[in-house]
Amino acid sequence: MSTHSETVSSIYQQIVDRNPGENEFHQALYEVLETLSPVLEKQPEYAKNKIIERLCEPERQIIFRVPWEDDNGEIQINRGYRIGFNSALGPYKGGLRFHPSVKIGTMKFLAFEQTFKNALTGLPIGSGKGGSDFDPKGKSDNEVMRFCQSFMTALYRHLGENTDVPAGDIGVGSREIGYLFGQYKRITQRYESGVITGKSPQWGGTWIRHKATGYGAVFFCEEMVRAVHNEELKDKVAVVSGSGNVATYAMEKLRVIGAKVIACSDSSGVIIDRNGIDVDTVIHIKEVERARIKTYLDFHHDAEYIDGGNIWDIPCDIALPCATQNELQQADAITLVKNGCIAVCEGANMPSTPDAIKVFQQEGIAFGPGKAANAGGVASSALEMQHNATHGSGFEYSEERLHEIMNHIHRDCCDTAEEFGEPHNYVLGANIAGFRRVANAMLAFGII
Ligand code: GLU
Repeated sequence: MSTHSETVSSIYQQIVDRNPGENEFHQALYEVLETLSPVLEKQPEYAKNKIIERLCEPERQIIFRVPWEDDNGEIQINRGYRIGFNSALGPYKGGLRFHPSVKIGTMKFLAFEQTFKNALTGLPIGSGKGGSDFDPKGKSDNEVMRFCQSFMTALYRHLGENTDVPAGDIGVGSREIGYLFGQYKRITQRYESGVITGKSPQWGGTWIRHKATGYGAVFFCEEMVRAVHNEELKDKVAVVSGSGNVATYAMEKLRVIGAKVIACSDSSGVIIDRNGIDVDTVIHIKEVERARIKTYLDFHHDAEYIDGGNIWDIPCDIALPCATQNELQQADAITLVKNGCIAVCEGANMPSTPDAIKVFQQEGIAFGPGKAANAGGVASSALEMQHNATHGSGFEYSEERLHEIMNHIHRDCCDTAEEFGEPHNYVLGANIAGFRRVANAMLAFGII
């Protein structure tokens, strides 16, 4: 072991000891730290100034009570979180997740990932994440509104367009963003559009934001498949896990490019449609009916539904995990390889386990990690902030701008991987390229 990898291992151990039980945070940390020793070797100023140790400690962590009243008049209590992880490159920026699985370790892993992701966009955004263990599933519109109002009542004092700018994530879409922004505006008496992103284009949002994470993941995948395999996505068979915002627009863009998406999923099961998944039906089910994906069968009688099925068992050329963390494990990776899959591109945050990633890397599968491949969402959020800073008179950014940003991120990861002697190792490329950008800003600011 080189001294640098010993340094990194001991930093990892210290952080694990300081944050007991936060398994997802440990995993995200491990995946990044594992790749950083070569950059410590090349640029000793990072180790000397304890940049890794500083970067792994969130700048601030806010935890608060969220009481609200359900439709039966009963009081419910949830826990709210907002982590400001790093502000070296701009205000804290990252989404809010409302899901029963949310814990402090979930928030920290997401905020930590966001640090590298946001840096890779090249835009002036720091990193943060927040959310709650509230489950919007099965709640009435009024219940969701009351919850969002209570959440914002506790959080608003910590936000600001130059301080901390939330957006959506799992369980937080344009409906929730509307309620959150409405309450912020009501409490502060300020129409500060840039305090939250993912807004409706009717009141300060941009139309591309809604589609940007999914579209961006496909743009990244397209470049990666060209670079690694010298092939095109056209006519490839794809499977996309999930059926939320990221999965939906990834499927839409894949269809436009000429790939055939034959399966998608939700936490209950998998839909297979050999004619190609009809994205408009998925949007209708998820955004209008707010129902389970098996409802797809009511619209397409020749599709198939596998209750509790595993989407990674379906043979495909391209796999896009767009649901949630750790949804693709080692056994799934082995199945994908066996079935001839050539590329895996992550639309979700940390959907592949470290063991699964090792399988892809050993087998020469092109693998795009989420912090690079799904950065299109937050990049469009940064563009929305720029648009808001001009009070709406500025240029509204287009899909071409998103495409340019994704191509730029892809190139940056590729060049960095090559610089460190590991061509096509996008994990290493993304981690080092993102790290360097944040680290250089932190060095410039002195000991803060
Ligand atoms: N939640 C998204 C992500 O994981 C987007 C965050 C944002 O737009 O601020 O990157």
